Amino acid sequence: MAIKQLLKRTSGWLYLNSPVGRNQLQGAGVILMLHRVLASDHAAELPHRNELCVGPKAFEHLLVWLKKHFDCVSLMDILQPGTVRSDRPKITLTFDDGWRDNALNAFPLLQKYQVPASIFLSTDFIGSRQRFWWESIGETLWGSHGERARMQLIDCLRQVGRPLPVAFDELDVERRSLALLHFLHSLKTLSPADLNRLTDECPDESLPQALDWQQVRMLEGSGLVRFGPHGASHAILTGLDDQRLHEELSRSRDALHNGCNRPLPVYCYPNGDNDARVREHVADHDYPFALGTGTGIYRGTDDPLNLPRFGVSQRVARNPQLLSWRLFRGART
Ligand SMILES: [Zn+2]
Repeated sequence: MAIKQLLKRTSGWLYLNSPVGRNQLQGAGVILMLHRVLASDHAAELPHRNELCVGPKAFEHLLVWLKKHFDCVSLMDILQPGTVRSDRPKITLTFDDGWRDNALNAFPLLQKYQVPASIFLSTDFIGSRQRFWWESIGETLWGSHGERARMQLIDCLRQVGRPLPVAFDELDVERRSLALLHFLHSLKTLSPADLNRLTDECPDESLPQALDWQQVRMLEGSGLVRFGPHGASHAILTGLDDQRLHEELSRSRDALHNGCNRPLPVYCYPNGDNDARVREHVADHDYPFALGTGTGIYRGTDDPLNLPRFGVSQRVARNPQLLSWRLFRGART
């Protein structure tokens, strides 16, 4: 292990176990952000998946570590704490987008360790075969759906003026995955129409990528999981005019109210993007709280409409001490 990483892990551990660290975290809450839990750790390890994907072994390792150092509570226990006091810092898990693997791979482990979680749904995807562009384009370019599909998509990328870098195929696995990650990031500036067109070029998979409403109700019925909105179409809210912003917010809110018994009063911005106008609209749609992607510890004094979270990658889940290092840094800012 690199010295730098070892130092981070050690100081992170010291922080959680020192009086200073415990004092700083007392009464505070930590909100974690995850996306997918894949069926294999090996698959989650590659750079282009690492950010959004965690493998089952790493996820289980993370849960065991969290239970050792934190009170694992529901999101509302952090946002609207009751009177029960505890010396230990509180932590809660949130999942973005509404991936089907949350039910298949994450939930059995949440249940095993009795750790509550919140899942934020991009509601147009739930119960539909509509696919997330990032996943479809990324995996098709990776070759997960065969060479023919890959070549066809590469052609299409050329047509929208975003050719795949020439040297891509000559790289070794690790570097190719890293190059793919950068390339996918660069596609974020494409118009939604172009992204849809590219996604349509990708082959259909046998299963939809997102949860369906039956799974949502099953998870909710367990009492361990609650749901909130993460946009309807996952459009970046800051880029929408007032009319479309209103449509996104009300469509996602209505879908949650129809599909769940007890939807959360918390909005979760797609990509975390928000500004004063978006926050005002979210408040007008009866959401007193909203989650961003800025990093920080929740102390009850933050803007409730732009709450900070800590992202969890496969690397962090495998080495949760890295998380305590980030908490330590977050506590100082
Ligand atoms: Zn998202």
